[in-house]
Amino acid sequence: MRIGIGYDVHRLVAGRDLIIGGVNIPFAKGLLGHSDADVLTHAIMDALLGAAGLADIGHLFPDTDDKFRGARSLDLLRQVADTVRGAGYDIVNIDAVVVAERPKLAPHVPAIKEQLAAALELPQQAVGIKATTTEGLGFEGDGLGMSAHAVALLQEK
Ligand code: MG
Repeated sequence: MRIGIGYDVHRLVAGRDLIIGGVNIPFAKGLLGHSDADVLTHAIMDALLGAAGLADIGHLFPDTDDKFRGARSLDLLRQVADTVRGAGYDIVNIDAVVVAERPKLAPHVPAIKEQLAAALELPQQAVGIKATTTEGLGFEGDGLGMSAHAVALLQEK
């Protein structure tokens, strides 16, 4: 068994779609980034890559590469799952938490789980997704950005 951890942060700005776990969530602001800035999916990818001992998403999908401008992170997650399986591992489960003051993400969690499980080719019970606020504290609490933490468990084939 191999465990990995991932963490990501993106700034919240006006004029961007808010994409979390591949789901477009209605909100006045969105996350800023070279790709669709899907903070949750980015943390999950780094957890998977870390568990396999592979280079992180910054190396795999550099933000200096125009190929990844506006990239759908869910598509990148599919590539990461393929890479990890190609390296000789089965994905056992992932677990993650998104930290955001607003909007309320809980109503979107079922759709997020469905999207992520499909991209990872895992049953939904192998994909844990939670959302929390920071009770108004820190950059997430001030609505300046969102963060996500994820862990992934792999098993050697
Ligand atoms: Mg990111």
